[in-house]
Amino acid sequence: MSALPPQIHVFVRDWLSSNNIVLKSSDGAIVIDSGYGRHVPLTLALLASRQGLDGVPLIKLVNTHCHSDHMGGNAAIARAYGCPIALPASEAPLIEAWDTKTLLLDYADQYADRFAVGEILEAGATYIWGDLEWQAIAAPGHDMAALVFYNPEHRILVSGDALWRNGYGLVLPPEVDAAAMPATRATLEMLASLDVRVVIPGHGDPFSDFEPAMDRAFKRLAAFEGDSLRVARHALKVLLTFALLDRRQMCLADLPAYVDRVPIYRDFNARFFGLTPADLAATLVDELERVGAVRRRGEFLTPA
Ligand SMILES: [Zn+2]
Repeated sequence: MSALPPQIHVFVRDWLSSNNIVLKSSDGAIVIDSGYGRHVPLTLALLASRQGLDGVPLIKLVNTHCHSDHMGGNAAIARAYGCPIALPASEAPLIEAWDTKTLLLDYADQYADRFAVGEILEAGATYIWGDLEWQAIAAPGHDMAALVFYNPEHRILVSGDALWRNGYGLVLPPEVDAAAMPATRATLEMLASLDVRVVIPGHGDPFSDFEPAMDRAFKRLAAFEGDSLRVARHALKVLLTFALLDRRQMCLADLPAYVDRVPIYRDFNARFFGLTPADLAATLVDELERVGAVRRRGEFLTPA
């Protein structure tokens, strides 16, 4: 139902690694987004497979935005294929300075190997990838520098983390970035104005039920707008779930020290919650457990 032209292949990954989109043409292939650092061996194996490049030279790696789960394989792929890395113009200064706080790397207990910016992608420009025209459109909100890519001919939207089938990527609270929440609304309104047949999201399967997904995204946004505490708590829960997926399990007894040590938890706690580290850890775990995102196994916490 979400039929894609034959030169597009999507490797649907999980929540630790973004999807990898392969766009092939006789001139060579483009890959959009490279997954998380921990998954680099699998990412390289998928790209080298028959469904992947299958011997076609990789001429460019593109990022929708520069979060660890979308750029974690950049360095390894550039090394393996000798290809340049193209990324949104507003990400370039952050990558060149390797601003690990704004990029939510060590600041959020995530990592990526450093890499060089090869080409800058501009909002409003059109690129030919896989013999298809892709309009780069600014999609700030979850990441203020993010782009989405839209192909009008087949009405395909490569949405990154600006739109998933169920929601979109975490947004920073207004006290941390006053522009983020209004930008999220403007981006959803922009997306709603597009004529879309298939969405290839940054996470999850490609989907065709675009309008219901937009409705869910707007509902979610309305629930978060004007409730900074909820936005802040949600961000920390997403990041803790990511850390659990990354480590596979964490010792419950170590969590208070963890949320006291990793800067984003410490900063958000000081700014929004004013809890003891033990109470912050307990609150996050309780809420994640209640929605079935994590499980207690003896002294350990694991992803559900
Ligand atoms: Zn993201």
